[in-house]
Amino acid sequence: MPVESEAPFAHRILRWFDAHARALPWRLPPGEPLPLDDPDWPYRVWLSEIMLQQTTVAAVKPYYAAFLARWPSVVALAGAADSDVMAAWAGLGYYARARNLLACARAVRDQHEGRFPAQEAALRALPGLGAYTAAAVAAIAFGQRAVVVDGNVERVVARHHAVDAPLPGAKPQLRALTDKLTPDHRAGDFAQAMMDLGATICTPRSPACGICPVAADCAGRLDPTGFPVKAPKKARPERQGLVWWMERNGQVWLVRRPETGMLGGMLALPSDDWDGGARVAGLPEGGEEAGSIRHVFTHFGLTLEIRAVEAAPGCTLPEGGQWWPVRKIAQAGLPSLFAKVAAEMLKGRTP
Ligand code: SF4
Repeated sequence: MPVESEAPFAHRILRWFDAHARALPWRLPPGEPLPLDDPDWPYRVWLSEIMLQQTTVAAVKPYYAAFLARWPSVVALAGAADSDVMAAWAGLGYYARARNLLACARAVRDQHEGRFPAQEAALRALPGLGAYTAAAVAAIAFGQRAVVVDGNVERVVARHHAVDAPLPGAKPQLRALTDKLTPDHRAGDFAQAMMDLGATICTPRSPACGICPVAADCAGRLDPTGFPVKAPKKARPERQGLVWWMERNGQVWLVRRPETGMLGGMLALPSDDWDGGARVAGLPEGGEEAGSIRHVFTHFGLTLEIRAVEAAPGCTLPEGGQWWPVRKIAQAGLPSLFAKVAAEMLKGRTP
């Protein structure tokens, strides 16, 4: 009988899971036989996995219960009106998931006679099931040996093996290591155990190595938060642009931005093609320099130079616009980029 630290990794993980698994509404108790005769069982696993993407367990629980109460099977969900599902999803975020949820339910109904396929490759072919979700459903719902790698699993494996290659480049290596660690039996419990370990013990900021079941041979234990190594963030590119404040008789000229592209369909101040979109017709030449603002988008930083123009009657105005009372500019619903420009222009003015 091997001493505990020499037992295979999966054995120690599963033993820990049997004693400490989180009780969650979409889970069976650890080690319990899978209800493979119940056609709604994979549906429940799949629904929970889709809801849990980018979303916390606490946020998912009430939505999961409400969806199951209203649509207890994949066929029931497939028959739901799109608007009902979108409304039921409201508040959970990442709405593409809800659209994919319906597309997937209908694909299961129409292409698989209302039963989820058990094989990872067939699951992967369904709408909205990426590599992670297909592997998770195959392992957890059907007991298939599948290699399930989410952020928690990556962290545990990177620490345990002290993987010093940075993410995201290290992903194939971490997947290969997880593959080696994954047992042939209870692969679903193993996946859930690794996720639970990452969520409760091998946490991102303060891992509790003292109570970890795989601490004895953990190569990263002396510096756990040094793993996984992250690639240095690329510097955010910078852009420059021009924006016009065109005023006449206490009103400012606002334009409606094109429906597609950045800040699509929103009211805005006229500006040049800093966003890479088509240049608005009728932009004025010159104007008085009136300061600048800086704004940071996810993918770039932007400095807009402001040009103030006294818009004389009869002058050419940028297309697709309207006069808006300056004193009511806060009610125009300007995106924050242009709200900053308005604030800069109105600095020091009495309301
Ligand atoms: S010993 Fe610490 S760093 Fe290593 S796997 Fe366990 S909790 Fe994570």
